[in-house]
Amino acid sequence: MQTIEALPEQSIDDQWSLTEAMRPSPRELVVARRYLHLKAVVIGMLAVGSYWSLVVAHSSVVEKVLSAVVLVVALTAAATSVFHDANHASFSTSRAVNHLAGYTGDLLGASSWIWRFKHNNLHHGNTNVVGFDADIDQAPFARLAPDQPWHPWHRYQHLYMWVLYGFLTLQWFLISDWVDLANHGVSRQRFPRRPRRRDVAMLALGKMIHIGWAVAIPLMYHRWWVVLTFYLAISWTVGLLLATMFQLAHCAELAEFFSPDVPRRGSDFVAHQLRTTADVHCRTRIGRRVLHWLMGGLDFQVEHHLAPRLPHTVYPLVAKRLSHVCDERRLVVLSHASPWQAVRSHARWLKLMGSRP
Ligand SMILES: [Zn+2]
Repeated sequence: MQTIEALPEQSIDDQWSLTEAMRPSPRELVVARRYLHLKAVVIGMLAVGSYWSLVVAHSSVVEKVLSAVVLVVALTAAATSVFHDANHASFSTSRAVNHLAGYTGDLLGASSWIWRFKHNNLHHGNTNVVGFDADIDQAPFARLAPDQPWHPWHRYQHLYMWVLYGFLTLQWFLISDWVDLANHGVSRQRFPRRPRRRDVAMLALGKMIHIGWAVAIPLMYHRWWVVLTFYLAISWTVGLLLATMFQLAHCAELAEFFSPDVPRRGSDFVAHQLRTTADVHCRTRIGRRVLHWLMGGLDFQVEHHLAPRLPHTVYPLVAKRLSHVCDERRLVVLSHASPWQAVRSHARWLKLMGSRP
C-alpha cells in the first residue's frame, strides 16, 4: 500500500500528458462500449428475471430469498455500471441514450438530474474538498475530514455509519432529493440554473415509477408486511454496497483532504486527483473480474477521476498505461491491495476522525 507521505513530493509539470498517455484508441472505445452495452443487457435480464421470481412467480421462501440476492446484485451493478457511466456521458456517444440510461437512477429512487450536479460537478470537480464535495458531507452524522466539526457521538461513527450507509438510496428517495430541489442546490452549493418544470416533472415521475415497481406491484401479489420487509432489506443492502464502494476510493487513510482554498483546477487538476483518490485492487484474477463487474468503474477510481467520460469497461486497459507512465515519472497512484484492506482502511479512518481532535 502506498503512503501519503510520498505525495507532496509529486510534481507534475506536464500533467495533461498523463491523461494523454492513457487515452484509448477509437477502436478500443468501440469494443469497450460494445461490452458495456452487453453487460447492461445482462444486468437488465438479471433484474427482470429475479424481480419476476421474487414478486410474481409462485416460488418457495428459499427461492424468494435467492431471487432477492440476485436482485440486489443486479440493482447494484445497474447503479455502478449503467447509471454512473451514463450520467458521465460515457455509456454511449448519443446524448439521448446517455440521458435514457442515466434515468435508471430515478427508477432506483435517486434523481439523475440532481445526481449529475452533486456527483459530476461537486464531487469530481472538488474531490475531498470540505464544503464542496457532497460525498464527504455527512453532517451531523459523521466527521469524514479533519477540517469538519467534531461532535461527541462521532466517537462511535466507525460502528453506526455502516448501518446508516444502508439507508443511502432510501434517503435519496425520501429526503435529500426533495430538500436539494427546494433549496435549489446541495448543501451550500447552488445549482447552475433554477430547476425547470421539466426537471421537476421528470424527478417526480422517477419517484412514482420507483414506488410503482418496488411497492405497488408487489402489493398486488403479497401482504404489506412481506413487501415492506423485502423492500427495506433489498434497499438497505444496495445502499450499504453503494455507499461503501464510493467511500473506499476517497475516505481512507491514504487519501488527502483539503480546505476550499486549495488549487484544484487547470494545471493542478491531475495532481489533486492523484492525492485524493485510490483504486481498489484484488489479488486474484477471478476476484478482479468479479469486483470490476460489480463495481463498474469504482474500482479504477483514479483512472475514472482522470478521465470520467470513458466507459468503465476500458479502465483495466488504460490503468496499465497510467501505471506505466506514472512509474516512469515516479508518481504515486494510490491503491488498496484488496477490497478487504480498503474496507478496513475506511473503518480505521472513521475511527480516527471520530476521536476528539
Ligand atoms: Zn463518477
